[in-house]
Amino acid sequence: DRAGDYRILHEAALRDHLAGLPDIAALLGGEPASWEITEVGDGNLNLVFIMKGASGGVAVKQALPYVRLVGESWPLPLSRAHYEYLALSRQAQIAPGLVPALLHHNEALALTVMELLEPHIIMRKGLVAGTQYPGFVGDITTFMARTLFFTSDLALSAAEKKEGIAAFAGNHALCKITEDLIFTDPYRIAEQNRWTAPYLNALAASLRDDMELHVAISRLKLKFMASPEALLHGDLHTGSIMVTDHQTRVIDPEFAFYGPMGFDVGAVIANLVMAYFASAGHERATGERAAFEAWVLETVEKVWSEFARKFLDLWRAEGTGDAYPVSLFAGAQGAARLEAERQAYLHRLFADTVGFAAAKTIRRIFGLAHNIDFELIEHPKKRAVSEARAVRLARAMMVETGTFRTIADVTGAARKLR
Ligand code: ADP
Ligand code: MG
Ligand code: MG
Ligand code: MG
Repeated sequence: DRAGDYRILHEAALRDHLAGLPDIAALLGGEPASWEITEVGDGNLNLVFIMKGASGGVAVKQALPYVRLVGESWPLPLSRAHYEYLALSRQAQIAPGLVPALLHHNEALALTVMELLEPHIIMRKGLVAGTQYPGFVGDITTFMARTLFFTSDLALSAAEKKEGIAAFAGNHALCKITEDLIFTDPYRIAEQNRWTAPYLNALAASLRDDMELHVAISRLKLKFMASPEALLHGDLHTGSIMVTDHQTRVIDPEFAFYGPMGFDVGAVIANLVMAYFASAGHERATGERAAFEAWVLETVEKVWSEFARKFLDLWRAEGTGDAYPVSLFAGAQGAARLEAERQAYLHRLFADTVGFAAAKTIRRIFGLAHNIDFELIEHPKKRAVSEARAVRLARAMMVETGTFRTIADVTGAARKLR
């Protein structure tokens, strides 16, 4: 009974477990008794420890049978650790160098040992501090273009694609969290909702009465549930990205499943747009963060344009999947028609991205899980001003998605609201 083997590994038990893994013990070096353990988990769901020895360190992530943020009253399957491991393995193959190396996985313990990312920090923290990351656009667009393209019907045989869907279909409890917390609760009275009261009380109430918005979020929810386009990371916010000045690593893919590509791309864009609006709340002197804010919006533009360029290049060069068989597009005329169709595909993906970005924004301001971009703005009135700007843009992006024809329409609207 493998499930029966689960127990939470704290200090001594974790040390013993790693000491029993020769490769990891060698990597850490020295006597197990001398290894230093620090709990670093700052996420909502799991335990994360850093273990350091004489010659190296590792990160150890263990799932709890419940949501860490809420407690034992909210059970959550341990199997998410298996899906995270599976996703991390696939991402390492398809997008090498952009995820931490996997060193060990124990399914019964829901425990994964991986490369210690050091001196990397969580990107969201860097953005709050006003740090620019010049290498980020190149890395994140490579990660998204490659992981989304190579797990789609554009690259795979029909059989491979459906095997992929099946491998992740059991991760539905994590999908349900997204379905509830992102696509439903912020738009109704829900016990877990919170917002910057009293300043945003009226805005919160208006979202609950906004039928156009309810239609729009419901369409997005259905798309999330019923469009297995590619293997998504599923939680691709700036708290799932670790960076140095010149490196980017994507962590925490426990929400991975086959869903609509725009959900991942929209997550990155939404979190940059929120960093932009939050920035005003972090300045101590007017205009102090102008260069940072210009960089953030430029980055939003490049995230879309570079992603689209790389995705199209992959499709042109390696579009050997069962969708769009080249035999149907023979000759120069066929090639031109197929190229136009690729552009049309990207245009639909852009509309999905805009809608999902809006959904990811509203949930951070009215739902259960908030982000430090806004939370660390000390004065609630100032915080509410930044949040309301983000919500105003998000509402337009969700309800009037078609009026955002290019990414410059998104950044232009953001600039006007600042
Ligand atoms: P959760 O699923 O609970 O959100 P994460 O995988 O996001 O857990 O990890 C929580 C925190 O642990 C991260 O924010 C980061 O600070 C730290 N962390 C996670 N993985 C690593 C790693 N490979 N190297 C260094 N720190 C890590
Ligand atoms: Mg996390
Ligand atoms: Mg999280
Ligand atoms: Mg997580």
